[in-house]
Formats: sequence, structure tokens, C-alpha cells
Amino acid sequence: MADGDCIAQLGGWAGYRVAGWRHEPRAARRWLILELTPAPDQVRCCSGCGEAVEAIHDRTVRRIRDLSLFEDPVELEVERLRLACPRCGPRLEQLDWLERYARVTRRLADSVARLCTATSVRYAAHWHDIDWKTAKAIDFRTLERRMGPIDLDGVRRIAMDEFAIQKGHRYATVVVDVERKRVLWVGRGRSRAEVRPFFELLGPERCAQVQAVAMDMNTAYDLEVRQHCPDARVVYDLFHVIAKYGREVISRVRVDAANQLRHDRPARRVVKRSHWLLLRNPGNLKDNEQIRLAEVLEANQSLMGVYVMKEQLKALWNVPTAWAWRRAWKQWLRHARESGIPTLMHFAKCLRPYWRGILSRVRWPMHTGLVEGINNRIKVIKRIAYGYRDDAYFFLKIRAAFPGIGR
Ligand SMILES: [Zn+2]
Repeated sequence: MADGDCIAQLGGWAGYRVAGWRHEPRAARRWLILELTPAPDQVRCCSGCGEAVEAIHDRTVRRIRDLSLFEDPVELEVERLRLACPRCGPRLEQLDWLERYARVTRRLADSVARLCTATSVRYAAHWHDIDWKTAKAIDFRTLERRMGPIDLDGVRRIAMDEFAIQKGHRYATVVVDVERKRVLWVGRGRSRAEVRPFFELLGPERCAQVQAVAMDMNTAYDLEVRQHCPDARVVYDLFHVIAKYGREVISRVRVDAANQLRHDRPARRVVKRSHWLLLRNPGNLKDNEQIRLAEVLEANQSLMGVYVMKEQLKALWNVPTAWAWRRAWKQWLRHARESGIPTLMHFAKCLRPYWRGILSRVRWPMHTGLVEGINNRIKVIKRIAYGYRDDAYFFLKIRAAFPGIGR
């Protein structure tokens, strides 16, 4: 076996043999350049129709990156064939290790895509000595192929949420299939007109099958949902209501409490630092955090009051029957009214008109952690991927992070 054939066997460039190799210095590194020529007596297939074609139309040398060999980055000089297909006309030969018009081999593309998912585009590019635009383009194509077109059949319960693309400036909307835990659609903006394309994509028949839509209060989504999905109930998502309660009630009461303690600096510091303790789910607190939380609450009556009311507000999302819900809701509103805490009284007054969307939760239980999980995951993806200012890529990454579970 000749040297070139041995390397060709190891390299796995089916249908090709290594006609020569050389080292080339580039940017302070030593590159390995392999010249690949078509091996004789091979059956070659047209990339259009997949049929075997004998006649060769023309040949051009292409430079293709492959995985590194030992320590050297590898570039292939491939004599690429265009076959004279009687059915399709001149067409590139179909190769299982190289896609049409690709500048990297399939296995290098696979490796780049895996690294992009596991780490970041920048790291994948650095690892394989390619520029980040190429790495990003490879990741995009791989994801697109893997995800395919979205299957919108049988969607019954969805959640809609907005997220900031740039802090406080531009927004986007994500639509989630709650039952199958997958992202259905991501689009720029959060206005009625900007989310309309999703409902148009869904089409009137599938829109009619939607039973419930979870969302934040005070969004433009509900009007659009009512217009397209006649049978859908709007459900307010627990995650958003509790986040709003944390911002508008707990944080303000905490700031007031700290201000009242301005002559007692150690006590003031304890209250000031209790921000996360008060907002976090008590089930997720460590032992020492639970003790600190108990100390803060015991020392401050108003904080204790709004904290207990937060837990009772959460409980409204877990009431089993409409009757029990009504009783719990009235009780919560009365406690708020009688609390004497202005921010809490105000919050309750503003929440009151939204009662239908909270009650709907009794009939349409939705996994509320899902929206929160997606919300958090988007923030991470944005930090890693959005340096590239490419909506289509960013949105595809979000979809890929929540491909869903089978029916
Ligand atoms: Zn053909």
C-alpha cells in the first residue's frame, strides 16, 4: 500500500486518494496541506438526483478545512468534480464527508457545532483555528437541519412571554407549547402586530384548538389571543405575578424598613442585605439562610406581613376548585386591605381586576416553572450568543434549547 493510500484510508475521504502533502507555515503555526485527487474506478453520484454518473463535466481545486492531525491544523486541496448528469445537467459529485459548497468537512462541522452548544462560538472557533463567523455559520446550519420546520399540530396550551434583547430597549416574544415543553416561535417585538405572525402561522383551524394561553398581566398579548383563538382562556402566570409582587411590594417595604433603622447600623445592614432572601423561593434556601431570613422577619412586622402575603398569593395558583379559590382570593384581598401597608394595599387594588386570569389557573393548570426556566435560559443564551447581533441565530439557539418532549 502506498503512503498516500494509507493516509487516505485513515482520513476517510471516500472516493479520493492523497496525491501529495506538504507543510506550510502560516501565522506562526505549521499547517499540514494534503492534496486529494479522485481515486480511479469509483462509482460517482450526482448531488442533484443521487444517481450514478460516469461523465465528468469539469474539475476545480477547493481548499477545505478538516480536523487537525496531531498538532497541525489541516487543509485539504480537493479536486472537486462536477459531473455531467444527463438528468440534472452539470452537478457537483455527492460526497458523504463533504457537503455541497461547504468549506469544512462534515466531521469538522459536527465538532464545531458540538462545541458551540457545549461552550461558546468563540471557544469553538478558537479550538479549531477558524474564524468565529465561520463557526457561527456552521452552528446555525447544523441547528437548522437538526430542528427542521416546527410542527404546530395539536397545540392546545401555550405560554407567551417577552424578553429584552438589549436592556430596556428592544424586546422579543417567545411562544411555548406548555404540554410538550418546547419553543414554538420567537419573534422581534411585543406588540399585537408583532406577535400576529405567530397566529397567522398557526392558522385559523389550529388557533381554534387552543384552550389556554398563559402570560404576564399588562401585556398586549391578551387582545391578540382573543382575536385569533375564540376558545382560549387567558391565564396569568404565577412567575410574573410573584416577580411583580417582589419588585413592587417586598422591595419597597424592605427599603422603608432599612431607612427607619438609620440609627442602628448593624440592624440596618441586616435588612439591606436580605433582598435575595426575601425574594427567593423558601424551599431553595440553605439552613443558615433560613435562620437569617427568620431573624429579619421577626425584627420587622411589615416585612413579615408582606412576606406571609407572598406565600398566600402563591397558594392561589394551587387551589383545587373554583369555590375554594374564590374564598381564598377574597381572604387575600381582605388581608391586604386590612394590613395598613400602603404598597400592599395598592398592589391588591391593581391586581383585583385581573381575577379571571388567576382563577383560570384552577381549570387550566400549567407548569409555571417552565416560563421561569425559559426566561432564565434565554438570559444565558443571550450572554453567550448574542454578542453576534444576529436575531435569526439567537432565536434558533432559543428553540434548540427547548426542543420539547414527545407526545
Ligand atoms: Zn443528477
